[in-house]
Amino acid sequence: MEKKVARQINAFDMAQEQFDSAAKLLNLDPGIAEVLRWPAQEYSFRIPVRMDDGSLRVFQGFRVQHNNARGPNKGGIRFHPSETMDTVRALATWMTWKCAVADIPLGGSKGGIIVDPATLSLREKEELCRGWVDVMWKNIGPRNDVPAPDIGTSPQMMGWMMDEYSKLAGEYTPGAFTGKPIGAGGSQGRTEATGYGVIYTVREAMKHLKMDPKKSVAALEGFGKVSQHASIGFVELLGGKVACISCWDHDDKAAYTFSHKDGCDPRFLINITDQYGTVDKTAAEQAGYLVEDGEAWITKEADVLIPAAIEGHVNGDTVKLMSKRVKIMAEGANGPCTAKADEYFKANGIFTIPDILCNAGGVTTSYFEQVQNDMNFYWSKEEVLKKLDDKMTAAFQSVLAMSEKQNVNMRDAAYMVAIDRVVKAMEFRGWF
Ligand code: GLU
Repeated sequence: MEKKVARQINAFDMAQEQFDSAAKLLNLDPGIAEVLRWPAQEYSFRIPVRMDDGSLRVFQGFRVQHNNARGPNKGGIRFHPSETMDTVRALATWMTWKCAVADIPLGGSKGGIIVDPATLSLREKEELCRGWVDVMWKNIGPRNDVPAPDIGTSPQMMGWMMDEYSKLAGEYTPGAFTGKPIGAGGSQGRTEATGYGVIYTVREAMKHLKMDPKKSVAALEGFGKVSQHASIGFVELLGGKVACISCWDHDDKAAYTFSHKDGCDPRFLINITDQYGTVDKTAAEQAGYLVEDGEAWITKEADVLIPAAIEGHVNGDTVKLMSKRVKIMAEGANGPCTAKADEYFKANGIFTIPDILCNAGGVTTSYFEQVQNDMNFYWSKEEVLKKLDDKMTAAFQSVLAMSEKQNVNMRDAAYMVAIDRVVKAMEFRGWF
């Protein structure tokens, strides 16, 4: 399914269409719009790595910096077999809007390497991480561009990358990367942050729609870090039930959906999941879970759908499989819903929490991590999560207020809030 979708949709086309729609509503100057439709800088480069079998393999790497008017560029690095320059462009663009919606003083960027990390040994992975930094280090840094984890990358990998950067820069520079391990400059709460942030926005949406979280059911796509903590949050913070999660099985090269008649136990499922988010099917079945094909997640009777896998999976075809019960679409992933899916949500009164708002908890906590790195003073987990909740709640309320004032959907409203803030920063800095 992943390959089929990657060919069908172009994420950067999606990002530009979303921007154009909001730019029109804002009557944005066409020249300024042209600046913001495109990333400011793009790097495409090769990384040679000596493999364990002695051969030399060359990997394709990317970094795209979209806009730094509000502060240093910020965004993750993905290790993914179907990465392209256009997906990285889209993801970098979304980061600019995400940081602006969350109202943190950072710009937008994204990086990637075309690779399936599950095929690499630990040593090969470390070499590849260090190789990426060896090429990019002069163009990144705490006041320039700050990478973080994303799909296929982990805190350990950020630790290696920060170490490589520090060696090259000649001084310990923890703020050059975020999402680092605790004890190596990482922040408490960073691992949970994106998933919990999703749940804080779902909680606010439920208040607005007058829904009872305790009577609510969610269906989640994916079981990486975002989905794992969003499902924990849905059960433990909101008191709701998780009908299913899905995952990508890297051995079978196929996706599966896991459901349980009494609701899923996220902590149990995490215990039987490997570092790449693949759930052990046999262990799940032994515990009474039903294992179905990957698309089944979207068909479940649920009030909230949380696509937390990859871009474009909720599209004109798959929306037709959705249950009529769905009221909230909470975009845990970046770009999970296409324009055709948006049309369906509009026609069917489904309240969308757009990705640039919904999953902003990760980068917001990355920002807190950098602040702590600069102070060399670290907060407790409670403190971090409280600050995160405050930021996410404020962001949700400002987008909702824009949506009600301008009578536009939540995606257009989030873009309008973000574009307005970025344009103001460019004007204040006298860029035009
Ligand atoms: N990769 C995450 C995202 O897409 C986090 C980025 C960051 O922390 O810089 O939002």
